[in-house]
Amino acid sequence: MTEYWVSQARHWCEYCRIYIAGNKSSIAFHENGKKHKEIVELSLRDMRMRGRERRIEQSDLQKEMDKIERNALKDYMHHDVAKEARPAAKAEVRLPVSEEMQRAVALQQASEAAAAEAALHDAPAAVFAKRKVGSKGIRVKKESDL
Ligand SMILES: [Zn+2]
Repeated sequence: MTEYWVSQARHWCEYCRIYIAGNKSSIAFHENGKKHKEIVELSLRDMRMRGRERRIEQSDLQKEMDKIERNALKDYMHHDVAKEARPAAKAEVRLPVSEEMQRAVALQQASEAAAAEAALHDAPAAVFAKRKVGSKGIRVKKESDL
């Protein structure tokens, strides 16, 4: 008796979560049934809805993280770079950051360079002059100009 049932190949319906007889006609009969079709429709709808919710959650989280990183970067540029009037390349190396932050830095490299440039130009004349003297590149240029 037990052997008979075990040896029967049964078909597991994932949607209805039941076993049905494993022959083609009974599978077809089950899958054409009203109840099975309703369950399939419901579960597809549920899957689509959950997928949409997940995407919305992820994009909200991403936006939030982008905002935090942008603000951190802005803060950093404002306090450290503007104060010390360092070139953007050096500022990047000194950033103590996560992968996300580094990605944000890479994305904003252009505007960052522009900001550092602006910081240099906005720096007090004394700081700018000191940097000029200390920089070999500018001195060489000066000599060749003379
Ligand atoms: Zn079913």
